[in-house]
Amino acid sequence: MNDPDAFVQRNWTMTIDNEQVAASGGAALDVVDPSSATVVAQIPDATADDVDRAVAAAGRAFRSWRALPQAERTAYVWKLAQVIDSHSEELAWLDTIDNGSPIRVMRGDAPLAVEQLRHMAGIAPMVRGEVIPTPNRSSVDFTVRDPFGVVGRIVPFNHPLMFAASKLGAPLITGNTVVLKPSQHTSLSALRLGELCATVLPPGVVNVLSGRGSSIGDHLVRHPDVPRIAFTGSVEVGLRIQREAATRRVKVVSLELGGKNPIVVFPDAARDAAVDGVVRGMNFSWQGQSCGSTSRLYVHRSIFDDFVAELGARMDALTVGDPRKPDIDVGAIVSRGQFESVVGYIRQGLAHDGVRLVAGGLPQDADDPRGGYYIRPTLFSCEPDCDVSLAREEIFGPVLVASPFDSEEEVVGRANALPLGLTASVWTRDLGRAMRLTRDIESGYVWVNWSSTHIPGTPFGGVKDSGVGREEGIEELYSYTQSKNAYIHFGE
Ligand code: NAD
Repeated sequence: MNDPDAFVQRNWTMTIDNEQVAASGGAALDVVDPSSATVVAQIPDATADDVDRAVAAAGRAFRSWRALPQAERTAYVWKLAQVIDSHSEELAWLDTIDNGSPIRVMRGDAPLAVEQLRHMAGIAPMVRGEVIPTPNRSSVDFTVRDPFGVVGRIVPFNHPLMFAASKLGAPLITGNTVVLKPSQHTSLSALRLGELCATVLPPGVVNVLSGRGSSIGDHLVRHPDVPRIAFTGSVEVGLRIQREAATRRVKVVSLELGGKNPIVVFPDAARDAAVDGVVRGMNFSWQGQSCGSTSRLYVHRSIFDDFVAELGARMDALTVGDPRKPDIDVGAIVSRGQFESVVGYIRQGLAHDGVRLVAGGLPQDADDPRGGYYIRPTLFSCEPDCDVSLAREEIFGPVLVASPFDSEEEVVGRANALPLGLTASVWTRDLGRAMRLTRDIESGYVWVNWSSTHIPGTPFGGVKDSGVGREEGIEELYSYTQSKNAYIHFGE
C-alpha cells in the first residue's frame, strides 16, 4: 500500500439496515491520529434517533434471521470472516492511524478476528439443548436454546477492529441481531466493518453507529427493545451500564472490564523466560493498553534488585515512535485524554518518596504533546507498604510497578487485595506452588510460566469488578441464548 491515508480520507457513514447514512442531526466528530496529534477525518456523531432507527432495523431483521437454520447463519459468519480477511490490510491501517498502535502488530488483529469468527462457526453445533428424564414413560422433556433478539454491543478503543468483528460471531450464530457501537476515539474500522457486513449479511442484521458513549451508548443500553447488552470497557462505565440497563426493563448484561493484574516471579523461575514474560505481559506493542496487561509485578526479594535492573534495561531497549514504521515496538497512546491520564500517574510516581523510577519516565513534551502522544515503557519500583494509587489503579498505559515479596502467603494476599480480578501470571518451576497460586489467586484467567496471549477457545473474563461473563469459548455462544424447557405428555 503506497498511501495508507487514502483509506482514511473519505466520507465516513454509519450502517443502518444495510444503508450508509450520516448522523440524523448532521453532526460529526473529529478523528485524531494520535501519532501526529492531527485531525485526519470526521465521523458521524449519531443521535438517539439514529439508535432508535438502528434498533428498529435490527428488530425487524431478527424475525427472519432467527428463523434461519443455524447452519445458514453460521455460513453467513464464514462469509463475513472471508470478507474481513480480504480487507485485512486496509483494516490494519485504519486502526493504526486511528488508534496509534504499530502497523506491525495491527496487521495481526483482522486475522485474529477472522480466526475467532471461524472458531465460533466451528463450535456452533455444540450449542444444543438437553433431554431431561421425566417421572413417567409417556412424556419427554427437552430444552432448546433461543436467542434474545437485538444485542447492543459496545466495544473499547484498544483493539478496534478485533473487538468489533470477532464479537459478532456468537450473537449472530445463535440467532440474534446486533447494534454495534465502537469507541468514539477509534470508530473507523468498525464503520468500514459495517460496510463490509452490508455486502454479505441481510439488511438490519448488523448495524454500526459512531458517536459518544455518554449519549448514544447510554441510549442503546437503556433501550427497551434491546434485551441483551454486551460491553467491553472500563469498570467505571461497566458499573454505570449495569445500573442504566435496568432502568426500563430487565436485561442480560455481560461485562468485560479492566484489571490491575498481578504477575508473580519466584526465585526458582527460569530467569530469562520470566523477564520476557513480564515484558510480553505488559503488551507494550499496544502501549500497555490492554485489559489483560500484567501491570503489578511482584518479584521475590532474594532476586528483586537484579531482576528489576534486567527488566528495566529490556524496557529501555524498546523503540518508541511512529506506528507506521515497520520496526517500531511501541506506538502512540490513543488520545490526548488517555495520554494526560498516564502522564498523571508517572508524575505521581516521580513525586512520591517511596517510589523509584527504573526505566522510561515523563515524556519531554508531557505538557504539550504536539508531535503525538508518545510515552516510553516506564518501570517504577516500590516497597510493599508504599501507599500510592499508581500501584493500585488500572493505568491502561505502558507503566509497570514492581515491588518485592517475602512469602507465598503474603504475595497471594497482595495479589487478591484489589477489587479487580481479570488475569494473573505466575512464574515458578515448583508444580505444587504453581497449582496453589492458580487455585488461590482471584482472577478469571491464570497463566503459569506464560503471559498475555489468549489460547483460542478458552474462556476469557473477570471476577470481582473485572466483569461478568466469559467470552472467546463455548460460554460466549451460550451467553447469547436462553433455554426454553418443553414438557410433552403423550400418554392418555
Ligand atoms: P470506556 O469504558 O471508556 O469505553 C468503552 C466503550 O463504552 C466505548 O465504546 C465508549 O464510547 C462506551 N461508553 C462510554 N460511556 C458510556 C455510557 N455511559 N454508556 C454506554 N457506553 C458508554 O473504555 P475504553 O477507554 O474505550 O477502554 C479501556 C477500558 O476497557 C480499560 O478499562 C480496559 O481494561 C477495558 N477493556 C476490557 C477488556 C476485557 O476483555 N475485559 C478488553 C479490552 C478493554
